[in-house]
Amino acid sequence: MHALLVEDDDRMAHALGTALAQRGHTVRRVARAADALRHTREAEFVLLDLGLPDLDGMELLRRLRTVCAAPLIVVTARCEERDVVQGLRAGADDYVVKPFRMAELMARIDTVRRRAPGAVAGRPGPAGPAGPDAAAVRTVCRGDAEVDLATRTVCVAGAEVRLTRREFDVLAHLAARPDEVHPRAEILDRIWGDAFFAASRSLDVHVAGIRAKTGRPWLVRTVRGFGYQLGTER
Ligand code: CA
Repeated sequence: MHALLVEDDDRMAHALGTALAQRGHTVRRVARAADALRHTREAEFVLLDLGLPDLDGMELLRRLRTVCAAPLIVVTARCEERDVVQGLRAGADDYVVKPFRMAELMARIDTVRRRAPGAVAGRPGPAGPAGPDAAAVRTVCRGDAEVDLATRTVCVAGAEVRLTRREFDVLAHLAARPDEVHPRAEILDRIWGDAFFAASRSLDVHVAGIRAKTGRPWLVRTVRGFGYQLGTER
C-alpha cells in the first residue's frame, strides 16, 4: 500500500518511514500541509501529524477529507480529550498520541485499512452493496429522517445531511436492523474491525456526531451499558 506521511519532524518521519517500509508499504513523506494536499490522490492511507509549520493540522485534516477518502490516522502529541474528539469528528479514522509504540500504530493501520471501502479482505460492510441486509431494506425512515442504505445518504426534513463515512457506517449498521439493539462490541467489530481495539471512544464520538449533524438526537438510542439502537421520535 502507498502511504502519505505528513510529518515535519525528520527523526519521527524517518522512524515511521522505516517501519512502514519494513511492512512492505511505499511511503511519500511530506513536511508541509501544502505538499500533503498535492499528494492525496495517490495515497492509500494517510498518517497525519497535527503540528505542521504552514497550517494547523486540524484544518488540514478537514481539507484532506473533502478530497480524500483514504483511511487516515492522526499521529500527534496533542492528547487533550477535545483534540481527540475534534480529530475524529473531522473524519480521522483513528487517533494515536505520541509517544506511541510502533507495533501498536502498525496494528491500527492494518485495522483502518481493513475497514476502508474497496478493501480486499474482510467482511462486507453492514450496509454495503454486498451486505445481505442492504438487499432487503434500502431506505429506513424515522420521523422526518430518511437513511438510504443504497446511496449512502441521510436526509432530514428533505435536506441532505453530510455525515462522515464512518458516521454513516454506524448509522447504516443500526438502520439495517432497526428493531434490534446492537451491542457496542458488535458495532466496533463491524465498523472498526475489532471489538476491543481502543475504538470505544470513537463510537461515542461518532454517535454524538450523528445526533448533532442530523439535529435529531433521538435517531440513535443509547441502551445504557449495552449498546445502541436506531431510535424513534417520541
Ligand atoms: Ca510536528
